[in-house]
Amino acid sequence: MANLLWLEGSACSGNTMSFLTAEQPDVIDLLTQYGIKLSWHPSLSLESGHAVSKLLNEFIEGRNTLDILVIEGAIAQGPHGTGKYDVFCERPFKDWVSDLSKVAHIVVAVGDCACFGGVPAADPNPTDATGLQFHKTQKGGFLGASYVSRSGFPVINVSGCPAHPDWITQTLIGAVTRPNDLLLDEYHRPRDLYSTTTHTGCTRNEYFEYKIGSETLGCKEGCLSVNFGCQGHYTHSSCNRILWNGHSSKTRAGVPCFGCTEPEFPTFNYFKTAKRMGIPKKAPLGVPQLPYIAAAGVSKLAAPERLKGKLIKGRP
Ligand code: SF4
Ligand code: SF4
Repeated sequence: MANLLWLEGSACSGNTMSFLTAEQPDVIDLLTQYGIKLSWHPSLSLESGHAVSKLLNEFIEGRNTLDILVIEGAIAQGPHGTGKYDVFCERPFKDWVSDLSKVAHIVVAVGDCACFGGVPAADPNPTDATGLQFHKTQKGGFLGASYVSRSGFPVINVSGCPAHPDWITQTLIGAVTRPNDLLLDEYHRPRDLYSTTTHTGCTRNEYFEYKIGSETLGCKEGCLSVNFGCQGHYTHSSCNRILWNGHSSKTRAGVPCFGCTEPEFPTFNYFKTAKRMGIPKKAPLGVPQLPYIAAAGVSKLAAPERLKGKLIKGRP
């Protein structure tokens, strides 16, 4: 059995809530069918206080094998590098992470805060929070750019706010059963899950093509990037390929993608679209700016009446 230890730093427990709703596979299957033993989890385990320190020290001292270390939440380094803004089992949380990452065979960061610093690391970052191996887009973070776990892997980042439940369980299975097949992108996210954008599979793609915008949040028609700042066309996620709760996503529910899987998250211009000549300024991922503006202008002129007529005012 592979021992899995889940610890939580500066976080809201959103990724734990997400993890518990996994379906492909669900948490029970994960723990009964794939040879994973949950050694401890802050919300799911009964042990607390000294019993937890004892368990963690057994891993650190080599009396037990730590196969997978999962970290949820950012690492608080302040004040003045002491880590005392976040104390866990009588030690700064960062010191536990430092010791455990040296003995872990695989380290997985779950959620944007653990991956890149996320919300706790947003300006003015009073706790000097950072991600495990990235600080926003900058490689390094708490463990440093050259860190590799005992199995020779960098920190595997399952980003998102929260990360999709099935991305978490599928990555953990991959890490245990076939780690060498886990190909990572430049921000250490599994490519299978993060190589396409939220835009891929979005039901509003035809509206995007002709720059026909949704008129209200929550409506079923129109593209949410024209008026409501949807970042789906440049955000790496499989939210519209692997649906949430098996049947929906933000854009399907009429809410713009906020780009929560990206290292820059959170940004501060939600629900707003910067435009030039009535066309959203930012080009889709990989599309050069000038050809995009020209093509989008022509497409807007060619927008078919059948689509414009489908826009529904008000909530569905
Ligand atoms: S709503 Fe967002 S994800 Fe969907 S088509 Fe428009 S830009 Fe793409
Ligand atoms: S749709 Fe966008 S903001 Fe929502 S979970 Fe997916 S990547 Fe994050």
